[in-house]
Amino acid sequence: MLSVPFLNDKQNRRITYLRISVTSDCNLQCSYCATGKKQKNSLLSFDEITRIVNAASKIGISKIRITGGEPLLRENLSKLINQISEIKGINDISITTNGYRLPELASELKSAGLNRVNISLDSLIPEVYKKINGGDIRNALKGIHVAKKYFDDIRINMVVLRGINDNEIENFIAFGEKNNLTVRFLELMPNKNPPTPRASAGSETFKKGGLSNETIITNLQKKYKLTKIESGEKSSSADWFLVNNTKQKIGFISPVSKPFCASCNRMRLTATGELIPCLHGEERISLYKAVSDGNEEEIIKTFHSAAEQKISAHQLDKGKTSCEMKSIGG
Ligand code: SAM
Repeated sequence: MLSVPFLNDKQNRRITYLRISVTSDCNLQCSYCATGKKQKNSLLSFDEITRIVNAASKIGISKIRITGGEPLLRENLSKLINQISEIKGINDISITTNGYRLPELASELKSAGLNRVNISLDSLIPEVYKKINGGDIRNALKGIHVAKKYFDDIRINMVVLRGINDNEIENFIAFGEKNNLTVRFLELMPNKNPPTPRASAGSETFKKGGLSNETIITNLQKKYKLTKIESGEKSSSADWFLVNNTKQKIGFISPVSKPFCASCNRMRLTATGELIPCLHGEERISLYKAVSDGNEEEIIKTFHSAAEQKISAHQLDKGKTSCEMKSIGG
């Protein structure tokens, strides 16, 4: 085995978390999620992704999230999960999904070694859900229902959109309590090329943008007792609270109003083999050749080069971003 130092960036942040997009295809069309340009290279194969994770594990990557596009559209994904779960040093594998294919796949994903599931759900009202992403809420709810049979740690991610679903926050807290689910409220992030909402969504309404979590928390505190807690996870991107002295936990992810760059431990890998050190930065470092040559030393060098290029902080507050969420993965 190569003797190599851990993956530290110039700010001395240690990178331990790799988010891997396995496809930029999606079966939903969220009004705020941008597509980006058509990908030129072909998708990394499962063996290539496994080779990359294997090399990354040797420099301290221990946590993997599978994302997309919609990751469950990638055929036979359980095979990849299984291959990654066998890599020494990888101790947490999670996925972010819209949940549509969980009824058929949750069981095999669990057996393959998937530890945790985040499910995106932006509304509990069928018409509003459809307005946001063009989909049918029954698919997402069924996915959540089945996932609960297999996974203890399920997080529901809701992106709060002004004038669209911001009146549903309390309903989401009640939904979390009733179904024993952890709900997290996400601030809407700008995209490099703002997506064009589907005509049926009514583009005018979407122009109002997002809501800051600070505002949401202040409003909720008028009605709920929110007790701030530590997440227990190093580098957690969320602020966590207990609701009304119960065990119910809710989280707030505030990349715009309260960036967590100083403790960022992440790097991203696109489905076509580019490393992205910061979701909002411009830097793209290709692993494609190193991995298709099967050159582990070169893969590791490329990770170090990407870490070197990780910017100290994004400038989302100034609306600056190179993010094309659908091809990078949330
Ligand atoms: N298709 C999967 C899903 O729906 O969860 C995974 C990919 S999706 C890009 C991952 C997450 O990013 C979703 O929770 C989605 O709501 C979030 N997301 C996408 N665009 C966003 C934006 N502009 N601001 C905040 N969150 C965004």
